[in-house]
Amino acid sequence: NKIESAFRENRELVSIILKKIMEYSKKLEEAYGKEFKFKIMNFCGTHEWTITHFGIRSLVPKNIELVAGPGCPVCVTPSYFIEEAIKLALDGFTIYTYGDTYRLRTVNSVRGYNSLSDVRSDGDVKIVTSFAEAIADARRSGRESVFIGIGFETVAPGYASAIIRGIVPENLKIMSLVKLTPPAMFYTLEILREKPTEPPVMGVIAPGHVSTITGAKAWAVVSENYGIPVVISGFEPIDVLLSILEILKQLVKGEAKTVIEYKRAVTWHGDVRAQRIVAKAFRVVDDAWRGIGFLPESGLRLREEYRKIDAFAEIGVEDLKPDKWVYDLPPGCRCAEVTLGKAKPTDCPLFMRICTPSKPYGPCMVSLEGACAIWARFGSGG
Ligand code: SF4
Repeated sequence: NKIESAFRENRELVSIILKKIMEYSKKLEEAYGKEFKFKIMNFCGTHEWTITHFGIRSLVPKNIELVAGPGCPVCVTPSYFIEEAIKLALDGFTIYTYGDTYRLRTVNSVRGYNSLSDVRSDGDVKIVTSFAEAIADARRSGRESVFIGIGFETVAPGYASAIIRGIVPENLKIMSLVKLTPPAMFYTLEILREKPTEPPVMGVIAPGHVSTITGAKAWAVVSENYGIPVVISGFEPIDVLLSILEILKQLVKGEAKTVIEYKRAVTWHGDVRAQRIVAKAFRVVDDAWRGIGFLPESGLRLREEYRKIDAFAEIGVEDLKPDKWVYDLPPGCRCAEVTLGKAKPTDCPLFMRICTPSKPYGPCMVSLEGACAIWARFGSGG
């Protein structure tokens, strides 16, 4: 379409932006020295996809290092919940799941099964593309069912709206595993700051989709507390290049501001109506991230008034608690380091040997938003 071509095929604009990026990187090199790497982290799997697919790493100067962050909800969903879903499927519940969660492997086997796809011959596991599809099917079947609600802030308003409108039938329970991204960003920046051998993160490409809901204001604390530029970016290659340019420009000027590049979709305050709906249906909880552990106020669970459709309240699925969480990546998998920007997918010895897109061993190889799965398809983009 026209908008897409304007963002993808405007070679003249790309070369102007790249020229500017070169100029600013040169200035930074003069100020910081030749060896200094300017690490810019993205927090959305779709940005990693754009960077890799369009070879943006190969276009930017050598002193700019583009790294992926925890921008993949499937990658960070604890194994425990998938194990619980397998048990429910074996106990006669219909399980509704997205396609990538279906392929996610657990670290412990449950009665001989290691994924929802394994269990399909002995249990009723259905792949859906939306919560609405699960609702419609559960209404039709009348069977006791559970929907595995994975995602970031972008999916929460859709879940919340159905819950509040009372259209979820009581035979369908929701296992809400929605994660909130700002706490993961704070944690990632904190641990990278604590590790002096790593080049520090000097700028953040913040998630565009999530920001349509949260607004840019959700990230302002990053530029304020960490003193680094944050740019909320769109997903076309030109968006990402403009965001890199803005970060470099701020670094040269010694600024640390949160700015919106993705102005066609994101505002400072976000979608206030969606935020209200989400707050009405959900409460914020400390939540576990796969391979990482509990992060404060980083997940959503249903409010007490909706307990009749809450899998954690009604059908005896125990929620995960900090004292029960155990490290949950398979042996040798470096997915947590990849999602925290401490390792590249190619640093993992299992990458494309034991772990491939057709036979994913670790969670970062399952979803198209996972850095390992993206690098497996397109290389590093550099
Ligand atoms: Fe884990 Fe596979 Fe990625 Fe290695 S390549 S870090 S095993 S997901």
